[in-house]
Amino acid sequence: MTRDRIYLFDTTLRDGQQTPGIDFSVEDKIAIAGMLDAFGIDYVEGGYPGANPTDTAFFAKKRTTTSSFVAFGMTKRAGVSASNDPGLAELLQARADAICFVAKSWDYHVRVALGCTNEENIDAIRASVEAAKAADREPLVDCEHFFDGYKANPGYALACARAAYDSGARWVVLCDTNGGTQPGEIREVVAAVIASGIPGDHLGIHAHDDTGQAVANSLAAVEAGVRQVQGTLNGIGERCGNANLVTIIPTLVLKPAFASRFETAISPEGLEGLTRLSRAFDELLNRAPNAQAPYVGASAFATKAGIHASAILKEPQTYEHVPPQTVGNARKVMVSDQGGKSNFITELQRRGIAVDKADPRLDTLISRVKEREAEGYAYEGADASFELLARRTLGRVPEFFKVDSFRCMVERRFDANGELKTVSEAIVKLTVDGEEKMSVAEGHGPVNALDLALRKDLGKFQAEIEDLELVDYKVRILNGGTEAITRVLIESRDAAGARWWTVGVSDNIIDASFQALLDSIVYKLVKAGGEARVAAP
Ligand SMILES: [Zn+2]
Repeated sequence: MTRDRIYLFDTTLRDGQQTPGIDFSVEDKIAIAGMLDAFGIDYVEGGYPGANPTDTAFFAKKRTTTSSFVAFGMTKRAGVSASNDPGLAELLQARADAICFVAKSWDYHVRVALGCTNEENIDAIRASVEAAKAADREPLVDCEHFFDGYKANPGYALACARAAYDSGARWVVLCDTNGGTQPGEIREVVAAVIASGIPGDHLGIHAHDDTGQAVANSLAAVEAGVRQVQGTLNGIGERCGNANLVTIIPTLVLKPAFASRFETAISPEGLEGLTRLSRAFDELLNRAPNAQAPYVGASAFATKAGIHASAILKEPQTYEHVPPQTVGNARKVMVSDQGGKSNFITELQRRGIAVDKADPRLDTLISRVKEREAEGYAYEGADASFELLARRTLGRVPEFFKVDSFRCMVERRFDANGELKTVSEAIVKLTVDGEEKMSVAEGHGPVNALDLALRKDLGKFQAEIEDLELVDYKVRILNGGTEAITRVLIESRDAAGARWWTVGVSDNIIDASFQALLDSIVYKLVKAGGEARVAAP
C-alpha cells in the first residue's frame, strides 16, 4: 500500500521568534536553520525579510541545502499593483525557494485590520501568488484566523482559500491563529474545505497551543486530509506556543495509526537525532530542557521502578509506549549500582577511557559525580569537565600547573574626560614546573580579565593553548534568593575545530567562572598531549 506523504514545515525562526524572551541573532538563525536542514525538515521558514534588519540579513543568502527555504510576508496591499508594492518586492528579492504569504480569511479582519473590501483582499491573494510564481518561487498562503473566519462567514473564508488555490498556491495553510479551536471542529472544517474543491494534498495546518491541543489539532487535521503540518522546535511561539514538531514527528513516524498510512522525510535513523535536536535547541536558547517533554524529555523514559525495576529491564515494551532509542533518548531506571556502573563504563568507553568493572576507583567516580550533580554541576552539558573528573579520579591527569591564587577587581570611576568607566583587572599567580608566575590583565568584565591573566603565561605549555578560544559563556542561577548557587558553562574551541564544554559551580559567580576556565585549559592540554600524556602516572 502506498502511503501519503506528509510535509513538515518548521516556523521556529518566524512564528517562534514571537516567543516572549526569545530574540534570535543572525548567527542563531543560521545555526538553527542548519540543524533543521540536517535533520531533514521539508520547509524551513526563516523570517520576514524587509521587516527588520536581522531577517533581511538572514535572507541575503540561502541558508539550507536540502530543506526548502521559505520567506514570509504579507500579500500585496490593496490599492497598489503587485509590481508597485515595496513589501512584496523585498519578498521576491529574498534568496528563498518559497514564499509564504499571510492572508486574511475572516471578513471581520479584512474590514477592521486591512480596511479594504472583501474583493480587494481576494484580489491581493491572487496577485501575490501570481507574482511569486512569476519570480519562480513556490507560493504558499497562510490563511490567518481561518477557523474563526469560517465560523463567522464560511462562504468568505472558503473564497479566500479557493482564490489562493486557483491562482496556483502549492499550499493553502489553514491557521488556528488564536489557538482556541477544538480537534472535532478542526476535523469538520478541514472536511468542508476539501469538499469545496481544494484537495488535501494542497492543504496545511498551522495550530497554536492555547488550549494545550496544538499537537492534537494538527493530527486531527492530518486525519481529515491535510498533508502539510506546521510547527516549531519544542513548541516555542507566542502566548502558549505553536504545535510542537518534536512531538508531532515521532507520532507520525512511530505510531501505527499514522505510520501505516503516511510517510515523512524523516527516516528511522534520522529520528534517532530527535532528542539531540531538541536539546541542542534549548542549549542555544540557554534554557533548561523540559524534563517531561514527550519523547525527548530526560524523564520521558525514566521510571522510579521500585519492585518493577527488573521487569522493566527484562521486558521494557510492557512499560514504554515506544523504545526510547528510536527517538535518541535513553531509558532511566534507578535499579542497582550495577545498572549505574554499566552506564558509566559505556560513557567512559565513548571517550576512549578503559576501566575495569571491578576497579574500586570506578565506584569513587560514580559517587563523586552523584555528589557533584547534587551540588549543581551538570555534566550532560559539560562533556569536557566530566571527562576530566573521570580521568582525574582514575589517576590519569598530570598536574600541568598549580594555581596559587587569583584576585579580581572591578572599579567604577570617572576618567580624565569625566566619563563614567568600569574597569576590570585580574591577577593570577601560578606555578609551572616549579617556577612561580604572576600575570596581570585588564578585560571587558572580571571573567574576561581572569581568562586573559590565566592564559597569559603558562610557561612551556603556552604554545599548546595559543589557539584556544572561548566561544560561549552561560550562567544559570540554580535556586532563587541572595544565596543562589551559580552554574557557569563555558564553550571553547581550537584551531582544529574541536569544541568542548566545561562547568563550574559556586555561590560566587567569579569562582564558578574560574573553575570552568581552568577545566577548559586543562582539557586542552590533555588533548594536545594525546594518549601518551594522560596515560602517564
Ligand atoms: Zn502562528
